[in-house]
Amino acid sequence: MAKKKEDTCSFCGRKRSDVQILISGIDGQICENCVDQAKDIVSEEVAGKSKSVTKEIELMKPMQIKDYLDQYVIGQDEAKQVISVAVYNHYKRINYNMIYRKKGDEVEIEKSNILLVGETGTGKTLIARTIAKMLDVPFCIADATVLTEAGYVGEDVENVLVKLLQASDYNVEAAERGIVFIDEIDKIARKSDNPSITRDVSGEGVQQALLKLLEGSEVNVPPQGGRKHPDQKMIKVNTQNILFIVGGAFDGIDRKIAARINTNVIGYNKKGTAEIDRTNLLQYISPLDVRSYGLIPEIVGRLPMLTYMHPLTKETLKRIISEPKNSLSKQFHKLFEMDGVDIQFKESGFDYIVDKAVEFKLGARGLRSIVEAVLTEAMFTLPSDPKTKKLVVDGKYAKKQLEKTNFAKLGAS
Ligand code: ADP
Repeated sequence: MAKKKEDTCSFCGRKRSDVQILISGIDGQICENCVDQAKDIVSEEVAGKSKSVTKEIELMKPMQIKDYLDQYVIGQDEAKQVISVAVYNHYKRINYNMIYRKKGDEVEIEKSNILLVGETGTGKTLIARTIAKMLDVPFCIADATVLTEAGYVGEDVENVLVKLLQASDYNVEAAERGIVFIDEIDKIARKSDNPSITRDVSGEGVQQALLKLLEGSEVNVPPQGGRKHPDQKMIKVNTQNILFIVGGAFDGIDRKIAARINTNVIGYNKKGTAEIDRTNLLQYISPLDVRSYGLIPEIVGRLPMLTYMHPLTKETLKRIISEPKNSLSKQFHKLFEMDGVDIQFKESGFDYIVDKAVEFKLGARGLRSIVEAVLTEAMFTLPSDPKTKKLVVDGKYAKKQLEKTNFAKLGAS
């Protein structure tokens, strides 16, 4: 009698005796190795499809974007409004250029990057980060101060895109629609008003290099960052659809704004002076001021959406501790809840914490450290104390706790 032929995997041809499992189907078999491989192929395909960004982006309307921002960023209504419009238009433009222009429409909509002027710690990065989260696009933060022209000590401008590629797991297509936040742009302002004869390594040269990214071009990016190397294989990234949000404190720009307003007023509109709110001149900022601060006209031209941030008042700081969706008080509430403790912040507790943040000149960034310092003892003892079910943080408690720490010494100086 003829020996029965041994079953084989219909995909790789391995015999049953060479594999651990051979799953039989109607017309064939598959071994565990091929199942594994097929699984990888399927998940790559599915991931590729979901990451594929050639489809139209679903747009939120500017008001919806602002509502979303409101959940995380307190105050700063003007900036939030400008940014909501900019983001809406930006992604509308991508959809338009991708879909309608292909159908022969001739108008090309140019992009509108954003310049955010405001003191440090007022929420510029937070806004950019929140927008990126909302859109679910790759996001990175770069610091303009470390950038230099190619060939000088420091980072090449292209390295900004390396971070974006990393944020997108090297999915170039996704990165090309990401958001880049470039902080401290004011630090690369031209140092003097005369375009210098000698090269200004950290100022104008970097601005020129940055311009290339902002205006939308194909940039060769070294995959691992660092300096470009002759033998290195570069990744081509097109920055045309990358939204750049650029921020800076522009210390002292209020004097330039005041000077400009005064000259205008002397010229013809003396009545106008009464309406000027001199406590917050930043609200009158115009591209002219940014130029006279030392950004080159080409850069200013590439940042057409210009807006400003308000300095944070005590009232805003208080709201920042408790109101945002992931506010400090909500975060600590969750942490304590996990140990069965109900933590309750009182108005007087918030007041004390905010007063200290202002006194130590820590701004919103300092709030967390102060709250941590106030709660350290409780976080140390309460997990081993099943009897305590409630902790009230009022002004008295906050003061007592903070004075036990090194923090209080900050105020003494
Ligand atoms: P900037 O970029 O302007 O220097 P950030 O956005 O980094 O400031 O703000 C620092 C931190 O302060 C944020 O992570 C956030 O916790 C808090 N913060 C600042 N401004 C606000 C605001 N308007 N609303 C909510 N939180 C804020």
